[in-house]
Amino acid sequence: MILVSYKMIDLAISRRERVFLFSMKYELLREMTEISCLTHLECTACGEQTQPNIPHTLCLTCGKVLFARYNLEQAKAIIRISKTEGHFTNRSYDIWRYPEIMPVLRRENQISLGEGWTPLLPLERSITDLGFRNVYLKDEGQNPTGTFKSRGLCVAVSKAIELGVKSFIIPTAGNAGAALAAYAAREGVKAVVVMPEDTPQLLQSEVRAFGSEIKLVPGTIRDAAAVVQQIKQENNYFDVSTLKEPYRVEGKKTMAYEVVEQLRWQVPDVIIYPTGGGTGIVGMWKAFQEMKALEMIGTKKPRMVAVQSSGCAPIVKAFDQKEKNSDVWENASTIAPGLRVPHAIGDYLILEAIYESNGTAIAISDKAILLSMKELAKKEGIMLAPEAAAPYAALTPLMESGFLEKDETIILFGTGSGLVYPEFW
Ligand SMILES: *Cc1c(COP(=O)(O)O)cnc(C)c1O
Ligand SMILES: [Zn+2]
Repeated sequence: MILVSYKMIDLAISRRERVFLFSMKYELLREMTEISCLTHLECTACGEQTQPNIPHTLCLTCGKVLFARYNLEQAKAIIRISKTEGHFTNRSYDIWRYPEIMPVLRRENQISLGEGWTPLLPLERSITDLGFRNVYLKDEGQNPTGTFKSRGLCVAVSKAIELGVKSFIIPTAGNAGAALAAYAAREGVKAVVVMPEDTPQLLQSEVRAFGSEIKLVPGTIRDAAAVVQQIKQENNYFDVSTLKEPYRVEGKKTMAYEVVEQLRWQVPDVIIYPTGGGTGIVGMWKAFQEMKALEMIGTKKPRMVAVQSSGCAPIVKAFDQKEKNSDVWENASTIAPGLRVPHAIGDYLILEAIYESNGTAIAISDKAILLSMKELAKKEGIMLAPEAAAPYAALTPLMESGFLEKDETIILFGTGSGLVYPEFW
């Protein structure tokens, strides 16, 4: 009905008005129909394509990571209309700002606790002493549950529920479990969180507060993952492990879209990212390819830097040896739980992002991480988690090695809040 009457009006109006009405129609249609340009899933290793209409985990042919693919031409056209017609400013300032390149098909299936569009804070007193001028901290501690894990789990849970999933399971070093538990509570679905028994108490309390079932295991996230394998088969739980399903990475990629928009559509020179399972660095690198295709940016791409703790640095070791894959890191130990990942399933994607972008990988001692936490608190008023302070700790060694120039635009990812670590302050 609406379309027919618009058609009649269309005949009688000027081009300018027609464009305006078209965009109104578009906004109406967006409310009524699918808002995503998702087309298929594609294996990052063997290229096998598959339909996204049922829940997927890894590639059925080769067992590697699947990526969501979109009709980017279509997305580009929609975003352009929205922008020229001024609807852009009406878009939400959160991870759903560009629904065209997000996997959730219908607006009513987008869960939200307000994640994303975190501030990009210029660092001041902490960097002048080091000689830098344009260093920004993306303060991800301001997300729901205090870390950027909420971005990924928000999208993974939204999409899985859209596809009919009712119960979830996750192995975690802590923060991903808290995020899953929050979204499961929000939607009234079941979640089981498997975490190392030495996970910080407050993280365990968070999971319990949200009403998820918690299982504590000796060892690291790797041992938690082994337990998840057993339980999920018996119970038909959907496993939302890092990169073992295709949509957490879609939530994390929004960080790159935000950085570029917050820098007024400029691409930074360098992104420094504390790397565990690698969802963030892999997602952001994917986002830069997409933004290029969407003509949001030109050909410039940032150099991607993975920071790890010297107590668990499998990616740094592989990078130093120019390998395409990493080995399992034995006896992983660090004060930064999110970096205690002895082997990342997406290791080849993390390394690819580093190599393709002319980036680097660097290990930082726990001592330097602790000092950085204190320095950022004292000199900037920002309390970060240990993982989140690691990129700041990397600034000086990266300058000394000649990798960083003093006037480059550098983004540090402050991936989580320090408030859940009372023992460090
Ligand atoms: C999980 C986590 C990381 C590592 O993130 P990946 O994207 O899995 O590499 C870094 N910082 C914090 C606070 C985390 O919770
Ligand atoms: Zn494959």
